Amino acid sequence: NAKGPRLPDFLKTKIPSGASYNKIKNDLRGLNLHTVCEEARCPNIGDCWGGKEGVSEEEGRRAATATIMLMGDTCTRGCRFCSVKTSRTPPPLDPHEPEHTAEAISRWGLGYIVLTSVDRDDLVDGGAHHFAETIVKIKQKAPQLLVEALTGDFRGSLECVSTVARSGLDVYAHNVETVEALTPFVRDRRATFRQSLSVLEHAKKQGVRITKTSMMLGVGENEEQVMDALRELRKVDVDVVTFGQYMRPTKRHMKVDRYVEPVEFARWKQIAEDMNFLYVASGPLVRSSYKAGEYFIENVLK
Ligand code: SF4
Ligand code: SF4
Repeated sequence: NAKGPRLPDFLKTKIPSGASYNKIKNDLRGLNLHTVCEEARCPNIGDCWGGKEGVSEEEGRRAATATIMLMGDTCTRGCRFCSVKTSRTPPPLDPHEPEHTAEAISRWGLGYIVLTSVDRDDLVDGGAHHFAETIVKIKQKAPQLLVEALTGDFRGSLECVSTVARSGLDVYAHNVETVEALTPFVRDRRATFRQSLSVLEHAKKQGVRITKTSMMLGVGENEEQVMDALRELRKVDVDVVTFGQYMRPTKRHMKVDRYVEPVEFARWKQIAEDMNFLYVASGPLVRSSYKAGEYFIENVLK
């Protein structure tokens, strides 16, 4: 049907709450940071920002995760699943952003930060130096804080990937978003599955401890295509993979093909773990950064 399948109950989310969540939300007001969590109205905000319960406030907050947007709110690409604004000529970068972001993040007191950005094909280096400078400054001010960079593909420029990968980050993430066969219908035409694999492969070769990618399910992929994608990702040493349900942001975006049942997500988690991925998060509401802090701090990056 024209509207696509009906939203099942397991995708209806509760309103976030919790003392730690509210405290973080209040802190954020004065810091002038743009979080994807708030701007994309991510359904996981209560879990990610809530951190750990039953421990001191400080400890709880160190287990919290947030995703920060760099380089503005306007992307030079137009992927069919994404609600970010598009323009060929977004406003110039704010040269003070790396310093301000690092200062704000270091005062915030979280344990794990994901830095991400729109794609800036208008810039010679795609914003790679801006990204790297932000990470260097964060690590100067808050050496304990774990930093994940979730980047675009830099049009395949491995030099740009190196710039970010060698900035002192802990996790390099780049999302393939979907299986190879569907990539031309889902992502911007400048993106390819092979190019994304080469970004992940190159980042790992720069000595990054953890590389990570995410896929949406429910856009029309079949099992064999997902299996192929997992095999290709393992071949280039990707450590972490996450699976979540594609949700259509507005009627102008591509339709949901189907809602994948929780048991099927659980099965993909098992399959990927059996293929020796270090960590797999898989569920209808999982997003690439879902509770990353809690997991990485406790299990991977000690
Ligand atoms: Fe923020 Fe990512 Fe968690 Fe959503 S999943 S609340 S975007 S950190
Ligand atoms: Fe959205 Fe990223 Fe695609 Fe830009 S490149 S449209 S931010 S998914």
